[in-house]
Amino acid sequence: MNLFEQAFTSTLKTSIAGEVEIRLTNNRRAMISVKRTPGMMFVRVARYFALADRDVTEGLVAYINNEIKKPPPCVMRFAESHRSPDTLIKQEKRRANPKGKVYNLKEITDDLDRSCFNGELKAVIGWRNSRVVKGLRFKTRRVTLGFYDGSLDLIMINSVLDNRLVPIEYLRLVVYHEMLHKYLGVKTSPTGRRMAHTPEFRRLERSFEGFGDLIKWEKRNLHKLLSG
Ligand SMILES: [Zn+2]
Repeated sequence: MNLFEQAFTSTLKTSIAGEVEIRLTNNRRAMISVKRTPGMMFVRVARYFALADRDVTEGLVAYINNEIKKPPPCVMRFAESHRSPDTLIKQEKRRANPKGKVYNLKEITDDLDRSCFNGELKAVIGWRNSRVVKGLRFKTRRVTLGFYDGSLDLIMINSVLDNRLVPIEYLRLVVYHEMLHKYLGVKTSPTGRRMAHTPEFRRLERSFEGFGDLIKWEKRNLHKLLSG
């Protein structure tokens, strides 16, 4: 499960009354099914809903909680537009908004692309509202701050970083980290384990100018931003 799928699942679990088991499916035709048994509810819901906004998620929850008999129109429209993977990819890329209140991610990405990737990486990037990842435990902080979705070929950066208290150099490091994921791709070990942070990845990451100081800044400050 990727970051958004985890967040979505935990949002559903906390919003649905009673015990529930949630399974995300790749089925693009059946968007949702709910089976109620005494003491336990089984919900199967299409994976693309992990990218839904709050209205759509709330509509789904109301439907699952039996407050309404049919999923509301916003849910139907969302499902309609996500039945084809191509539509999903185009829509997500269009929706990705790089212009924040403080920082413009496109400027940062273009600049890093020129200076580190010969201008050839051409990453698409956008801010992602931190609401989406609330409720997740911030286990590995880097995963939460930024995320490269290979299936969408899209970098998403947690909007908690769109903050004057975050030095632009630090934000550049987070963006660079995600650009490296696009650049190197995700290798799979012979046992099928995803190997995202390979030794080569770590070497390239450490080569970022000021890396040591930025990591020190992160250790001192980041928890305040994330808990705020
Ligand atoms: Zn990473």
